[in-house]
Amino acid sequence: MEILIVEDDDSIAEPLERGLAREGFNTLRVSTGAAALASGPVDVVLLDLGLPDMDGGDVCKAIRLVSQVPIIVVSARGEEIDRVLLLEMGADDYLVKPFGFHELVARIRAVTRRSGGARNTIAASEVTVIGEMQLDRRSHRVTVASDEVVLTPKEFELLAMLATDPGRVFTRTEIFDEVWDPHWYGPTKTLDVHVAAVRKKLGDPGWIETVRGIGFRIMDPRA
Ligand code: CA
Repeated sequence: MEILIVEDDDSIAEPLERGLAREGFNTLRVSTGAAALASGPVDVVLLDLGLPDMDGGDVCKAIRLVSQVPIIVVSARGEEIDRVLLLEMGADDYLVKPFGFHELVARIRAVTRRSGGARNTIAASEVTVIGEMQLDRRSHRVTVASDEVVLTPKEFELLAMLATDPGRVFTRTEIFDEVWDPHWYGPTKTLDVHVAAVRKKLGDPGWIETVRGIGFRIMDPRA
């Protein structure tokens, strides 16, 4: 069984890797959200919420867009942890540091039992090509005519969601549920602001079509 450890703190990750190896698990360790999203097939993800490059919750949601791999969130003691929110982000379970090693192993076995032991790739062949655009969920990169488009994590998630089904209209509610949080109570203008930013960065507003009163879809502007 392959376990992806997403943890920037060596003093936590190293004993964890050694302990899990003693239990017969293979481990792969990364220390950033971007590296986690570029990982190949694993059976379980142990996800630290406090990462240097991305919010752990956003990493969790981004993994969920492309994979059903079980995710156990690991949070620091004292960190406000909202269990309901974590489960809505797609986490399967969570542990608060410091945690007992046997507790962790029991949780790993429980979530993998529930997932039926199927190996879930986070990122295999997750490249979508639409006209001149390439969207790579492995590396979280978007290019248009080979030019890199630098997007924020939310902008990427938005585009990645639309790109799961080019031409299909995604409703505003669907997008809010997936890219923001279910039951988003913030201003709905947020979505329009993000769409405008992505259009500008892609260099042609035609990439994202507004379907009035419904939502948005991704289109090849040259098609
Ligand atoms: Ca951390």
